[in-house]
Order: sequence, then structure tokens, then C-alpha cells
Amino acid sequence: MTDRKTVRTWAEVDLDALAHNYRLLRGLDPKAKFLGLVKADAYGHGAAPIAKKLQELGADMLAVACLDEAIVLRESGIALPILCLGQTPPELADELLAYDITQAVGDLESGKALSAAAVAAGKTLKIHVKVDTGMGRLGFVYYEDDDEAALERAGKEIEALCALPGLEAEGVFTHFANADGSETYTKNQYIRIQDVIGELWDRGLCQFKIYHCAASAAVLNYTWTGCNMNMIRPGIALYGYVPDPSVRDPGLKPVMTVKSRIAAVRELPAGAKISYGCTATLEQDSQIAVLPMGYGDGLPRALSNKLEVRIGDKLCPVLGRICMDMCMVDVTDAPGVKTGDVATVYGPGLTDKAAQLAGTIAYELVCRISTRVTRVYLENGAKIF
Ligand SMILES: *Cc1c(COP(=O)(O)O)cnc(C)c1O
Repeated sequence: MTDRKTVRTWAEVDLDALAHNYRLLRGLDPKAKFLGLVKADAYGHGAAPIAKKLQELGADMLAVACLDEAIVLRESGIALPILCLGQTPPELADELLAYDITQAVGDLESGKALSAAAVAAGKTLKIHVKVDTGMGRLGFVYYEDDDEAALERAGKEIEALCALPGLEAEGVFTHFANADGSETYTKNQYIRIQDVIGELWDRGLCQFKIYHCAASAAVLNYTWTGCNMNMIRPGIALYGYVPDPSVRDPGLKPVMTVKSRIAAVRELPAGAKISYGCTATLEQDSQIAVLPMGYGDGLPRALSNKLEVRIGDKLCPVLGRICMDMCMVDVTDAPGVKTGDVATVYGPGLTDKAAQLAGTIAYELVCRISTRVTRVYLENGAKIF
């Protein structure tokens, strides 16, 4: 019998491709520390095995979106520093401390609550100070170029944060909003974070060990001096994709390949309607393969009548609406296709195209692959589990 994990629809996660991307990105700025993003279950690739591999490869730090994701990593034995980028409610500060998680803090109020919790626990919580230089999400606000008053306000608040007991401010960072769109806007954000850091130094706050701003787009797009500060923070590039088609691809390898095993191949006559809503009509007698993958597996329904999957060396179109658990593929032009053959849905050359057809980005497609899709891990070219 075929491997139990690959009877229906599965995602192969190639840890060699991850290692390749890691080395390639590190090579772009060998002096910078490396933080690997493993939020959202490592962009759908499986947080624990990806984190373990990054730890093995020599990453300096990992980042997640929330406390629960950090705990999953600790419970799977990850010892690397973990930065929690999202807000953690102060009543859960005990868990940040117990699991030794570093917390991003972007406002004084959150800082005060975390400080109180750390003091009550008799412990010290590591934090990275988040500055909002133009993203409009989280962070101490400094948007205005050359505005001394605004700079002073941000400086004072961060100084007050760093003076709180029970907190150890280890890092300062910001996040670029448009590093794959506008170099001017990105440079302005970079100037603002430098201004804030200068203001903090003027206030005698020089204890920070780590300064960071560059996610994948900035790491790949920009080489201006200092752009990466002393740590880079890539996510999607680690998984083998550029953030936007406009971004230069230095030779990244997609880590995930999603495959589905053809459940049936059926001969249907010209005029036959395919799937819900009868949105597709066969123009000729056709061979239709049923793939056991649908939106319940994370395949966007918006790809109905648009997606092409690869079977052998042929690209075959999905016909009709994508259902929850299945979709239909026209294999008339791929003679010999039979039940049990494997169709590749996402992978090198496929994911970015599918993302464009769905009006989204590769990030969303890989994150959306649901838990029903088994993950199969490959290392040194062989299946490891
Ligand atoms: C997700 C995220 C990243 C990684 O972004 P990519 O575009 O995937 O490289 C970096 N920093 C922060 C704050 C993020 O939220």
C-alpha cells in the first residue's frame, strides 16, 4: 500500500530547500544576526520541524505572532530565543516568563502591565521595543520627518518604558510597510528609526543589543549601507518565495509542494456540466480527473475555473467550481492519466501563478493549507517523517 500519509492530499516540506534559502539569505548579509519567522505554523509548513531545522542551521532567533505559537515551539524542545510580535494580554505575562519568551512592546501602557506582572513574579521579561515609523500597526509612533517634538515624545515614552522594573529592553525594531513597493517610503522609514535610535542614545539608552527592520522584501531589494541593521528578519523568502513579483529572486527554492492523488478519472460527453452552479460545460468528449482537494484543504474557491495543476509534464485546467473536498481537472490532453496518479497543485512554478490567479500572494496560499493536508518532511532528498 502507498504511504498512509500520501493517500489523498499532502504537502511535502523540503528541509533541504529551507537550508538552501537560509544560507542564501544569510549570505546576503553575513554579519547580521538572523531571525527566522515561524508564525502561522511556519507559514503553513509546520512550526516545530521548521524551527528545529532553523535552530540546527544556526539561526539566532525565531519570531511568532502570539504566545500560543511560542509555547508550541518551547514544548517541542526549541531553545532559541523566541520573539512574540503580537500583543500578549498582561494576565498571561506569567507564561511569557515561564517559557522564556521575548515580547515586543509598542506602547507604554502594555509595558507597564507587563512590568507589574514581571515584578510580581520576581522575574525579568526580555522585550524588544517596537517603533511605528510608517506601518500603522503597532509601535511607539514616529511618522513625522524632522519633527523634533514628535521625536522627543517617542523618545520620552520609550525612556519611560525602559525605566520600568522587571523589563530588560534587548532590542529596538520597526517594520517596513512597502519595501516591495516604494524605495523612497522605505528609506524614510529607515531614517525615522535611525532618528529614534539617535534620540534614545542621546537619552543614555544604549543598552540595546539588537536593532532590526528588514523582512524579506527589504533583505532582497535593498543593499544600502546599514539597511539591515544588525539582524535580518525574513519570513516568506525562507519558504522560497519573493514577497512580490517585482522583487528580485536570488534563486530561492519553494519549500512546500502540495500534491493530490487522483481519486477517479471519468469519461464525460460533450455538453456535460461540471460541479456546483454548472459554471463549466464540456465542449468535447473529455477525460475528467477528480482531485481530492478543495477549499476544505485550503484551496481558494476563487481559483474555480482558473487554476492549473501539473500532472506528469502537462498543465491541466481545473474545470467548474472548487468544492469543499474535491475539484475536477480536465486531463483530456494528458492521455494515460489514471486513478492514483499524482497532481501537483502548488510548488515551484505553480504557487506564485496560483496566487496571481486568486488575486492574492503566495503567503496566503501556503498559510491556508489546512490541517487535513498531511505534512511530509524531506531531508537529504529522503522522506524523514
Ligand atoms: C511577518 C513579519 C515579518 C516577515 O515578513 P516576510 O515578508 O514574510 O519576510 C517580519 N517582521 C514582522 C514584524 C512580521 O510581522
